[in-house]
Amino acid sequence: MLNLDARVPSGPIEEKWERAKFEMKLVNPANKRKYKVIVIGSGLAGGAAASTLAELGYDVACFCFQDSPRRAHSIAAQGGINAAKNYQNDGDSIHRLFYDTVKGGDFRSREANVHRLAEVSVDIIDQCTAMGVPFAREYGGTLANRSFGGAQVSRTFYARGQTGQQLLLGVYAAMSRQIGAGKIKMFPRTEMLDLVVENGRAVGVVVRDLVTGAISSHSAHAVILASGGYGNVFYLSTNAKGSNVTAGFRAYKKGAGFANPCYTQIHPTCIPVSGDYQSKLTLMSESLRNDGRVWVPKKKEDIGKHPDQIADSDRDYYLERKYPSFGNLSPRDIASRAAKEQCDDGRGVGPGGRGVYLDFRDAIKRDGEDRIREKYGNLFDMYERITGENPYRVPMRIYPAVHYSMGGLWVDYQLQTTIPGLFCLGEANFSDHGANRLGASALMQGLADGYFIIPYTLGNYLAGVQANSLADINGAAFKESETAVRARLDKLMNIRGKRSVDSFHKELGQIMWEDCGMARSKESLERALVAIPKLREEFWRDVTILGERDSFNQSLEKAGRVADFLEFGEILCKDALVREESCGGHFRVEYQVEGEAKRNDERFAHAAVWEYTGEGNEPIRNEEPLTFENVKLATRSYK
Ligand SMILES: Cc1cc2nc3c(=O)[nH]c(=O)nc-3n(C[C@H](O)[C@H](O)[C@H](O)COP(=O)(O)OP(=O)(O)OC[C@H]3O[C@@H](n4cnc5c(N)ncnc54)[C@H](O)[C@@H]3O)c2cc1C
Repeated sequence: MLNLDARVPSGPIEEKWERAKFEMKLVNPANKRKYKVIVIGSGLAGGAAASTLAELGYDVACFCFQDSPRRAHSIAAQGGINAAKNYQNDGDSIHRLFYDTVKGGDFRSREANVHRLAEVSVDIIDQCTAMGVPFAREYGGTLANRSFGGAQVSRTFYARGQTGQQLLLGVYAAMSRQIGAGKIKMFPRTEMLDLVVENGRAVGVVVRDLVTGAISSHSAHAVILASGGYGNVFYLSTNAKGSNVTAGFRAYKKGAGFANPCYTQIHPTCIPVSGDYQSKLTLMSESLRNDGRVWVPKKKEDIGKHPDQIADSDRDYYLERKYPSFGNLSPRDIASRAAKEQCDDGRGVGPGGRGVYLDFRDAIKRDGEDRIREKYGNLFDMYERITGENPYRVPMRIYPAVHYSMGGLWVDYQLQTTIPGLFCLGEANFSDHGANRLGASALMQGLADGYFIIPYTLGNYLAGVQANSLADINGAAFKESETAVRARLDKLMNIRGKRSVDSFHKELGQIMWEDCGMARSKESLERALVAIPKLREEFWRDVTILGERDSFNQSLEKAGRVADFLEFGEILCKDALVREESCGGHFRVEYQVEGEAKRNDERFAHAAVWEYTGEGNEPIRNEEPLTFENVKLATRSYK
């Protein structure tokens, strides 16, 4: 069984983090340079961690598979980042952000972590502003805010529709300074393919150089995974095409517990699928729902009409109707299900009836086209480039799509996984969002983890590790790991079958979306659990990989990732099957009240943590009980 002691400090929730910081052991400044830390990932979480740890004096090696750290998937984030600054004086506070996040996650997150997140959110904005991130400002110069789903206050800081890019440029600048100073050694185009564990501690990684194909080992006193989310197990998603589960999954196979894989977020405002050959979906930022109104025709016979020909009285603004308090800014899981419900009812618009309108007509009338262009211009341009339709004139068409993974490697309050010395940050961990993440909270969490939490908790760990104990890369643990990595690559290369890697990925995605997507049932999950192993067996028999092992080979890279998705997808479905309740993004059709998620707190107020037990064996499901002492467990309502 895994040890799931979350190490939450005692005392009132408002004092836990202060107390933890005081109680943590420190590494003396002169000794920090003697410790080596590996960071996998250069997105907001990994980049923030690498630069801050280097700034503190640690010796950092950072790996990413892109050609530059600044191309991490974080660059895609559009709408904004939350912080409880209360600049608007509209009733926000640390406690409200904490409350909104626990409630938004449908009471499936750990209270203490979420409170700490809300506390450090205010520091993130100061830090990023000082680094030159060009947040939007009011006419008088103060930072501007807008609203995101699941909140009734405006606490989202933004840089037009490019918040992720601007934040990542800040991180990248900080990293570049440390790369120049020799404190970060950057390994771009390098993929981690295994975690090395020696005497129960994480001591390094085995990586593949994606340009030459060379395999090498790297040792460190601690390893940090900040490798992003696994949404691409569904094939079609808003994630960057390269995002994958490999780093986390290989760590799982070395003993790291994987928590709540079935919590996947389906975002309500994406451009609908347009054809069979599509490989990517595009998000239209949630910020658009500040001004855009979501509707479908009331009458089925109107779905083919031009929207201008549908009178106001014949439009169903269903989010405003069903959730009058939160309206178009209802949380993502709720807005997604509501869209599906309208489309299932035959009132969806566009090809296949899989779309709803997001309409700016009233906002343009009220504020003028220039003001709307100022706020959302680049998002409107992007929509027009992809669909050929001008959203200033015709309402956008949107439909839900896979977007974010709340599940991830289990971490304790120190952000350490079940393997001592292995930490996990950002979207790759499971920590803060429960069963549903609120908009603009991922950037907040990634930067909180990287800039403000790991610098303390890593020191606390390293203070107990001998500086002269760096593992030997010629030792048995590394050699064994390298041999296994090479053997797996050879096995893939030697199949020489007939089907492309992408065709397997696409078929897996179809199974996942149909049987474990926005709605899941016992029946559909059992079907998926038969289909996935069959597909996996076919993959290992019939996949074709062109080129050579020891050279630049994108088809081999993809094959490794898809092979991991084929195993991980099965665990995701198992997790969804065992969780006989609906909560947040996990909607089991058997457990609902009038279309809303019906939780079962008695049986499922816990994080489910999956433990690897060896090739071909059933994984074990462990539980970390969740207790709610500061937020009352209640049925979530946005009405
Ligand atoms: C279109 C879109 C818009 C979004 N908009 C918002 C928003 O407005 N606000 C918000 O809060 N959130 C938003 N999100 C979510 C947010 O962008 C992500 O959750 C967040 O950026 C993840 O950051 P990260 O640092 O954890 O991971 P990532 O940015 O995904 O970085 C992962 C890093 O790990 C590296 N890596 C992965 N595996 C390996 C491996 N095996 N070996 C070596 N390196 C590896 C990658 O190279 C990369 O550097 C959005 C997401 C999408 C898809």
